[in-house]
Amino acid sequence: MMGKHENKGMARPQIQSLDSNPYVAPRRRVTSKLSGPALSQITIQAIEICQAIQSVESSVTLIADKATMVRVYIDQTSLAGGVQLRGELKVRKTATGPATYVPALEDLAADPQDATKLIDKRNLTGASLNFRLPTTVTAAGALLVEVNRIWPAGGDDAMFGGVTSSTVEFVYGPPLRIRCIGLRYVDTGTGQTHTPDAVHFAYLRSFLERAYPVPSVDWSQIVVEANFAAPFNDQTVLRANAQIAAIRSSEVDNGMDPRTHYLALVDDARGRNFMRGRAMGIPDAAAPDTVASAPCGVPNGFAGDHDLSYADWYGAHELGHTFGRFHPGFPAGTQDASDPDFPFEEGQLSDADQKFVGYDLGDAGLGIRLQALAGTHHHDLMTYAERQWICAHTFEAIRTRLIEEDRQFDPAIV
Ligand SMILES: [Zn+2]
Repeated sequence: MMGKHENKGMARPQIQSLDSNPYVAPRRRVTSKLSGPALSQITIQAIEICQAIQSVESSVTLIADKATMVRVYIDQTSLAGGVQLRGELKVRKTATGPATYVPALEDLAADPQDATKLIDKRNLTGASLNFRLPTTVTAAGALLVEVNRIWPAGGDDAMFGGVTSSTVEFVYGPPLRIRCIGLRYVDTGTGQTHTPDAVHFAYLRSFLERAYPVPSVDWSQIVVEANFAAPFNDQTVLRANAQIAAIRSSEVDNGMDPRTHYLALVDDARGRNFMRGRAMGIPDAAAPDTVASAPCGVPNGFAGDHDLSYADWYGAHELGHTFGRFHPGFPAGTQDASDPDFPFEEGQLSDADQKFVGYDLGDAGLGIRLQALAGTHHHDLMTYAERQWICAHTFEAIRTRLIEEDRQFDPAIV
């Protein structure tokens, strides 16, 4: 039964074959190591300050206290020879304030033969000097980022010019408040009981922290007995939503923060019991009492996902509805196009101009590595397309809605 706004989740297709990623960085061989004097002046092409999604001009809002990376792009053709370059940033909250010095995460294997264009370098994390900003400098307010030093491994400081500094603004963003409820059910066909594994909660929590426009996720989780059993039908997800809406109502009455969003996870029993996800609605204004339910399981290629859980992007999609996000309408014919303002072709993170690149800053605890997600190769998490991440449109809209929800319960917040 579809309401005015289609808000059902993605159906599980046939398992896809492994797709090749054309954006995997080729390993470059550095042919010689030169010390300082052999370096001519190094030209810095750009400095990009990135969180989940960014343009090279750093035009996407930067959330205070959210994990942040700085990328410094060097014109390698300005070098005299192949070299391992190191770098150091100097960052300050004000022009006259105390400075913090930040070393690059890794050396840049620089090669003067490498004429990769800036637009393509952005899709390769190994093609820039990267710096992880300490949380002490990402508080709300301005941040002045300067390249302080660049030098070849074992050599003296190099001279450098070009884009040597950037000033950006970090803005306050509320945390994401989530209560995740695993619904344990019995499959009457097999007699087996199915409970979401811990990995699904962990992947969802981590994904929300990495992709959503929030400094942090205030998270809690429980598992309760579902008031339904398998086999499932079209009503199952409605019952799941009704059950957690009742739990939410009771818990909020007993002191739970009323800004908390509730999401149910229902295990797919290795594909045997796939409950298509659904939000209870798509509110036009702040309504954190809108609940949603999502399936969870091992993806095996579902939507281009080959890791341990699809609960991450699937749950982020259903939660996106509870923050008022509609479907962009991609792939065409598989979902409604109820978001008329969605700006990017094919539901991608970027148009063909590659203005936007997604950044997954990773999660060491889950073995998820730092990745640049090419904007034309990845798709917004409100689509049904493959390789999902968050686009700038969704990032800014959820940020705005989170602030509206905060204001609803605390008008003092501006
Ligand atoms: Zn949806």
